[in-house]
Amino acid sequence: MRLKFLGCFLAFSVAAPSMAAGLDPQQAKAREIFSRIISYKTEVGQGQVPAMAGYLADQFRAAGFPDADIHILPLGETASLVVRYRGDGTGGKPIALMSHMDVVTAKPEDWQRDPYTLVEENGYFFGRGSYDIKSGVALLTATFLQMKKEGFVPKRDLVIVFTGDEETEGATASDLLNNHRELVNVEFALNSDAGGGTLGEDGKAQIYGLQTAEKTYASFEITARNPGGHSSLPRVDNAIFELTDAVKRLQAHRFPVMWSDTTLASFKASGQVTAGKLGEAMSRFAQDPNDAAAADLLNDTPSEVGRTRTTCIPTLLRGGHADNALPQSATVTVNCRIFPGVAVAVVEKTLQSVVGDKIEVKGIGNPTASDASPLRVDVLAAVTEAVHRVHPGVVIVPVQESGATDGLYFRAAGIPTYGVSGMFIKDSDSFAHGLNERVPVASFYDELVHWQVLVRRISGN
Ligand SMILES: [Zn+2]
Repeated sequence: MRLKFLGCFLAFSVAAPSMAAGLDPQQAKAREIFSRIISYKTEVGQGQVPAMAGYLADQFRAAGFPDADIHILPLGETASLVVRYRGDGTGGKPIALMSHMDVVTAKPEDWQRDPYTLVEENGYFFGRGSYDIKSGVALLTATFLQMKKEGFVPKRDLVIVFTGDEETEGATASDLLNNHRELVNVEFALNSDAGGGTLGEDGKAQIYGLQTAEKTYASFEITARNPGGHSSLPRVDNAIFELTDAVKRLQAHRFPVMWSDTTLASFKASGQVTAGKLGEAMSRFAQDPNDAAAADLLNDTPSEVGRTRTTCIPTLLRGGHADNALPQSATVTVNCRIFPGVAVAVVEKTLQSVVGDKIEVKGIGNPTASDASPLRVDVLAAVTEAVHRVHPGVVIVPVQESGATDGLYFRAAGIPTYGVSGMFIKDSDSFAHGLNERVPVASFYDELVHWQVLVRRISGN
């Protein structure tokens, strides 16, 4: 999954360098890989991920990576691919570079172009997965091939981790962490499937988000039950009345204000580029998160409320079974976005105490919670250098996202994970998961530079 991380920033613009005509050999290779992997229909149910992994494995092999360092790990119809780039061991534990090979299902009849053919048109690459996240797969692969070609030796091992079901189950990420830990035993991970930059509608770079945390997605069913009866003989108690009361109590409840170093750094940066009272509140909160007035204003702003606390909100409602019968049950589904570091069970307990013990609260599914990753100085420095190589001076903001990626499983397994995509797009070009998904051609080649700078820097050279 990929979300554009933030909206509503005022221009703090820096011109993007213009693309030279013609492609150099590295760019041509990245484009060739991108084009080939878009053509694999790696949506759920098609079973094409292993074939795509096989194609990529061949690329690594041809570039001189030994078989022993290339692992395809099948899991059901899908697979993950892990490729180790050996370092000289002088720079510490390995680092993972993550992406995923699967895509969200595309219905070709609704697309203007074949979603499984890379089409370059009017300055865009179109294709399912172009943004989420076959561009990341192609660019990380091309970066490894290029470094190998140059004889580059990192100071620590670099481990490519391409999962195969990020959009659906996340089982390949869990499988790697639980059953193949020796392959992914890394100090931290850089994820191409999160973070990234925003271009203004004028095409100029505005801001870059470095993702350090993801909120936990968890839903609950809250149910009032009653013996029911005939509606001509109403009882004092009634499942719908009781559920309504519970929902009203939930509406009045606010989860406590929370923050991490990412929250504070993020509000400090965004406060500087956001106008009016909202910008002021951001700056004040960054300085003193106990400033209740600032926290209240952020709470009342839909784009900001999730950045400072857990939120739980009713999304679905059902109840009763006939228009002449007293309801035997009434249920509301409540969707929570839990602040990093807070256990799902703690939120469930809070919900129970808010709605009262006559009402049932039941979790849905099996959500995974994860902590925020600490803002590492070395990661921030390397990302800043990479971003500024292409977009000098652009503001870099640590962000916590409300969406989730495979980074969630890595963080939950104790591996700090940073979303550091180099892709810059306009908000109006964000079609991840949607129709006619696309990325700007210039941003694709710029991201190749981003990874080449970032990977070299982070591996100690
Ligand atoms: Zn994704």
